[in-house]
Amino acid sequence: MLTKDKQTKEKKSLPRLTVKNIENLRYKRRPVIHKCTRCGKGYQLETSLRRHQRLECGVEPRQSCQICGKKFTHRFKLTHHLASCRRKREYYETI
Ligand SMILES: [Zn+2]
Ligand SMILES: [Zn+2]
Repeated sequence: MLTKDKQTKEKKSLPRLTVKNIENLRYKRRPVIHKCTRCGKGYQLETSLRRHQRLECGVEPRQSCQICGKKFTHRFKLTHHLASCRRKREYYETI
């Protein structure tokens, strides 16, 4: 029985996981990247990848900016761009 006792004691002292080690493990595991199978773009969140595949990936950009001609896949992106594009143009026109 003595030998068994010794073994269990040794086993208990084996895993030397300090708080720092555990934090390192977590840190290494954190950046799980969900990659798009079509274009290879990586996303940290699965929901972002799904949104990309649904809205962006393989979608032809049909909305083009009337000011600079840049093309966008979705109208909301174009409207967002238009705001900054207009501001830029106004800025250059005032010079
Ligand atoms: Zn993609
Ligand atoms: Zn533009």
